[in-house]
Amino acid sequence: SFVLLNNQITTRENVKIDMEDRGYNFGDGIYEVIPIYDSKTFSMDEHLQRFEESAAKIEIKLPYDKSLLKRLLNDLKEKNNITNGIIYIQMTRGVSPRAHLYERNVEGLITGFCREMPFPVEQKHSGINVFLTADIRWLRCDIKTINLLGNTMVKRKATDENCHEAIMHRDGTLTEGSSSNLFIVKDKILYTHPATNLILNGITRQKVIKLANENDLTVVEETFTLKQLREADEAFITSTTQEITPITSVFGDIQANFTVGPITKALQQFFKECVEKEAI
Ligand code: PMP
Repeated sequence: SFVLLNNQITTRENVKIDMEDRGYNFGDGIYEVIPIYDSKTFSMDEHLQRFEESAAKIEIKLPYDKSLLKRLLNDLKEKNNITNGIIYIQMTRGVSPRAHLYERNVEGLITGFCREMPFPVEQKHSGINVFLTADIRWLRCDIKTINLLGNTMVKRKATDENCHEAIMHRDGTLTEGSSSNLFIVKDKILYTHPATNLILNGITRQKVIKLANENDLTVVEETFTLKQLREADEAFITSTTQEITPITSVFGDIQANFTVGPITKALQQFFKECVEKEAI
């Protein structure tokens, strides 16, 4: 398969990463996942914007500008002939003798690949179980870093408990999922954690908020508690790969059950129409 290495499209066999790459030693890097629908990308500009913002937050310099990156990613998608799937791109701080201290704004090392990935049709229709547990992550969850140990540990735990995703809380305040954002619906009003340092501001989250507002639904970007989750009418997660996936059962720190409700279904429909209209 074809992959991206810095500004070159090449084959995977040609990529050799040094054992003192800071991404490998420290998880010192950032990434993005961009969806492909029907051979077209969706929300590429928003993802590249966030990529640039994540890079700025940890003081890594993009080795070239976003417009070239966009061209390379489109080439990569076409060379690999992807119909429905994702583009994964990451940038690490590159190679230096292992030591904590980094030099500011050195040019990062970029790698990327594409893969076919079916979107979760059945889960979107029937909903998923989620496991609710403590948010054990650091306090800069707004950065889309490859350093994901907290996320992977809660995901492992959720899967052990027969749940599809972990959702997390800090002292009883819901934050987000291990790789998704979380919404609840109560009396026709949507609630989701505000875009602070405690969550990743998902591109899908932002789309859902926009689509809700355009369709006269109220979205409150305020924190909500375990009690509010338990008493909600509907709950769902959002992400690039999960789109809008309803939650039907919560296990773990509280138990709750939901049906796949009318607002979740309406948003799924708005999202589908949006993808059909905006994918390019
Ligand atoms: N939160 C976390 C922690 C994530 O890892 C992700 C997906 N990578 C999201 C939220 C959802 O973001 P997006 O909608 O941009 O995929």
